[in-house]
Amino acid sequence: MEFVVLAFFCGLSAGVIGRLKGSSFWIWFAVGAVLPLLGTLAAVLYRSERREPRRRCPECGKVLAVHVQVCTRCGRDLEWPDEVLPAR
Ligand SMILES: [Zn+2]
Repeated sequence: MEFVVLAFFCGLSAGVIGRLKGSSFWIWFAVGAVLPLLGTLAAVLYRSERREPRRRCPECGKVLAVHVQVCTRCGRDLEWPDEVLPAR
């Protein structure tokens, strides 16, 4: 039982850190829960996707990484953008 609680909180911390870095909360939550401490550490060391080129969804205007193929907000299929926003 303690392990489940530990895994949950490690997953939570990894997920929050991953989310802050512009990645998916649930992916990092899973990593942190499967690999407690290591997953959180990986999230801390993970390079931020915010430095990558971005594009704007033509449907809803959400800014996404250029390699994203389906908008995470409205679900629209995205083609390679005409206009790439410069990395920040
Ligand atoms: Zn969209």
